[in-house]
Amino acid sequence: MPKLPASLPASLRDVPPAELFLDVFARDLQHRGFARGGRDAALQALAVIDPVTYGRDRSHLDGHVSRLSPYLRHGVLTLAEVRDAALAHAPDTAPSRVWKYVNELSWRDYSVRVYAEVGDLIWQDFEPYKTGLPASVYSHEFPADIDEGTTGAACIDSWSQDLRETGYLHNHIRMWLASYVVHHRRVWWQGGASWFITHLLDGDPSSNNLGWQWVASTWRAYPYLWNRGNLVKYAGERYCASCPLADAGCPFDATYAALSERLFEGREAAPGESGHLDPASLKAVPWEPSSTPETVPGVVVWVHGDRLSPTNEALAAYPEGPAVFVWDDELLKEWTVSAKRQTFIHECVQELPVHVLRGDVAAEVIRFARAHGANTVATTPSPSPRFRAIVTALEAAGLTVQLWAEPVFGESLTPLDLRVHSDYWRQISASAFGKDPAPPKPKRPRTKKGQSAKTKT
Ligand SMILES: Cc1cc2nc3c(=O)[nH]c(=O)nc-3n(C[C@H](O)[C@H](O)[C@H](O)COP(=O)(O)OP(=O)(O)OC[C@H]3O[C@@H](n4cnc5c(N)ncnc54)[C@H](O)[C@@H]3O)c2cc1C
Repeated sequence: MPKLPASLPASLRDVPPAELFLDVFARDLQHRGFARGGRDAALQALAVIDPVTYGRDRSHLDGHVSRLSPYLRHGVLTLAEVRDAALAHAPDTAPSRVWKYVNELSWRDYSVRVYAEVGDLIWQDFEPYKTGLPASVYSHEFPADIDEGTTGAACIDSWSQDLRETGYLHNHIRMWLASYVVHHRRVWWQGGASWFITHLLDGDPSSNNLGWQWVASTWRAYPYLWNRGNLVKYAGERYCASCPLADAGCPFDATYAALSERLFEGREAAPGESGHLDPASLKAVPWEPSSTPETVPGVVVWVHGDRLSPTNEALAAYPEGPAVFVWDDELLKEWTVSAKRQTFIHECVQELPVHVLRGDVAAEVIRFARAHGANTVATTPSPSPRFRAIVTALEAAGLTVQLWAEPVFGESLTPLDLRVHSDYWRQISASAFGKDPAPPKPKRPRTKKGQSAKTKT
């Protein structure tokens, strides 16, 4: 690594987050989640995926899900390389054997693209709730008994505990738990989404908030509900066997019709309610193939939390360049990021040739660039509005910002229609399977209004 200019504080790279974020480590009982951070751990997890069996059993709690989400979320692995690893499990003649897994990866690509377009609007109701209830009835207080796992329902309490202790939940559990929070407890989905972001190692406003909006019905034509029969089908009796409510008082032991009647006032939006998203803004999002910038002298590399890999394209472009990672104090506080997640990030950062600072990210990157006499900052793209604000601040300080993008997951010949996943998928699926991008296949008629539930569990 290049010699450190005297004007910079010592690197925090080897300082454990427990020493940097004392209050968080004092608050959280669990300091490590289900996955170790870093590229080595990620490659080990990638080596054992079973994307073929996944297609048959992924909805079951014991199914062959890959648990790669923290690595994808933090860019330790890219979607393109996970897709390639999945395709390697199927003969060239039958890539359809891993179709479901690749399609599921596409949900992340899709969510990130939507987030890049809508920005902070991701925290607002895209559409009104289709429960016949106004948004104002959903409480903004997150119930302590859900957070602490003391509701009395064995399934809910066990999931709450898993979330806090491991930082991971199976997709089906995320849906069940979100549905309980929003529909049974009438808590606004944003409260649940924040709770998840605090604890999940993969917590990300893109996939997370879209998942919550989908369950809540603020981005779907109807709310997502489940019942005891559905739980037992995919989880067996593991929760009900020890549940004090199993014989009397189980809130999920009912038909869907009875649950709808108990929980909702109807299947439409309440009169006068409206959402905040103009769907037209997602109808034709320009497809811009990423270009590779020219390498130039006088550069520092800024590595951020969306691409924490030794294969980071900006690091690869400037292998000798001074590089910096900054713990974003404000964001960690705003999201109340758990100790587990901080440990995961620290383990990723420790594998990188970076100088580690903390504080205001823009100010620290500017300080780092000036200390090295650099006039250009090379980094990798991020969909987050916070990233855009930091880039704007760097440019306002007279620095040029170069963006080095990772290989794309799928290409399109036309502007992307991001209003629903199925339309986006028609546009990119050929290329996602390694073929030349094709013109979108003709639409199949929809049977139901709104977002297709087919690709969700
Ligand atoms: C309420 C709710 C909240 C969610 N919050 C998050 C979140 O904060 N971060 C996150 O990465 N995912 C989130 N998801 C999506 C999904 O549940 C997780 O990505 C998945 O469960 C991660 O486990 P896995 O790696 O074993 O997934 P696998 O089933 O093995 O899938 C492989 C990868 O595909 C991607 N993927 C799969 N399903 C989805 C999906 N529905 N949406 C977006 N990407 C998907 C993920 O990157 C995942 O790692 C949420 C879903 C719901 C319903």
